[in-house]
Amino acid sequence: MLQDKITQYTAEINAFLTEKADELEQFRIKFLGTKGIIKDIFDEFKAVSPEEKRTLGKVLNEFKQLAEAKYQTLKDQGGVAEVSTDAGIDLTLPGEGFEIGARHPLALVRREIIEIFNKLGFIVAEGPEIEDDWHNFSALNFPEEHPARDMQDTFFIKKGGEKGDIALRTHTSSVQVRMMEAGKPPFRAIMPGRVYRNEAISARAHCFFHQVEGLYVDENVSFADLKQTLFYFVQELYGEGTKVRFRPSYFPFTEPSAEMDISCTICKGAGCQMCKYSGWVEILGCGMVDPNVLENCNIDSKKYSGFAFGMGIERIANLKFEIKDLRLFSENDARFLKQYKTSLI
Ligand SMILES: [Zn+2]
Repeated sequence: MLQDKITQYTAEINAFLTEKADELEQFRIKFLGTKGIIKDIFDEFKAVSPEEKRTLGKVLNEFKQLAEAKYQTLKDQGGVAEVSTDAGIDLTLPGEGFEIGARHPLALVRREIIEIFNKLGFIVAEGPEIEDDWHNFSALNFPEEHPARDMQDTFFIKKGGEKGDIALRTHTSSVQVRMMEAGKPPFRAIMPGRVYRNEAISARAHCFFHQVEGLYVDENVSFADLKQTLFYFVQELYGEGTKVRFRPSYFPFTEPSAEMDISCTICKGAGCQMCKYSGWVEILGCGMVDPNVLENCNIDSKKYSGFAFGMGIERIANLKFEIKDLRLFSENDARFLKQYKTSLI
């Protein structure tokens, strides 16, 4: 009889759950109160036979401990609910949704560029943003009197130093030098990073922006390899059928040098504001690595040749998303940044 009661109440205690203080109090009175069930059962226990006492004693103690533990647990948890109720919080209201962050449009484009070149076997290399004259200018064949070495164009940090003046790097080409100095050909890498120029901030210019540099050095690398690599890149990034054209240009560290245009992504060559009605837009500079640069990095320019290219990530993003003002990229306006949540995860 007593055993049956204990079994039944054990099930009831196990099933009991509440967050309400008054219900928990009723539970306490019912089981643990001075006129409660446990008291009754202990009274009944006094009347059972000595043989039964031996087996039931243990069961009874466990039952009492169960009720006490349950009460204590619910009280600890219920304490929170009690406070919350006092503070006027309605726990039955649905929770607030978390806003999922968005990737920055520049990060999206950078990642896409990296993925395309990864398919061609290019690895990603990085270098410091604070550079010395050697890595940023001299090794790259910049003449002494080149305007980039002027205060007008570069943020200098310190005069002098083992490898010349210290400045914020003006291009990611400095990473090329570091890579070639540190290893042996073949090199096949792209180098994304932030660069700095001493320019007034406007819709079309900024004192910092982002570039991706590319370098491929091996035996028998030709301009045809350069053209095919960049042609593939453009087809992947802007879709098949995008046309490319190369115009002769000049960079101190490549010879010959070219600028590459693509058929306008907006008007497909028909002419629009973006392409200034020419049907073409410039996206990057490139060329064959100047033998002087290879020699500066202790690479035999008779045996090895290579190509390099560099593009502004902002420029690529502008063409992709039709963003007309460079300043938007660094103003951290969530209304602007949120728009790119669903494109290119
Ligand atoms: Zn156009």
